[in-house]
Amino acid sequence: MSTDVHGTADREWIGGLQVMLTEDFERLTARLTELTADSGDSADAYNRDALVAATRQNLDNITGALRRIADGTYGTCEKCDGVIPRERLEVVPHARFCVPCQQKLSGY
Ligand SMILES: [Zn+2]
Repeated sequence: MSTDVHGTADREWIGGLQVMLTEDFERLTARLTELTADSGDSADAYNRDALVAATRQNLDNITGALRRIADGTYGTCEKCDGVIPRERLEVVPHARFCVPCQQKLSGY
């Protein structure tokens, strides 16, 4: 075991989060299948493409978060190895960077 930055309460919270993300993943995968299968009506093609792109992005985010949970690196900033505050993760569950690093990356 490499780290113990998260206490038991956090591990329980992450366990719950993992369940939630897995459900989201399944829901979005089903949605994506629906969206991509429904190619007959081209009137909404533009909206559908945007939805497909947004859904794929969400799936990427969720997959990344689930992978980091499995790796045990969830909640650790990928840039500075700092702990990402739980308050931030509750708002952005797929956050990969702590707030200062995210701000630097975003060019603030
Ligand atoms: Zn950082």
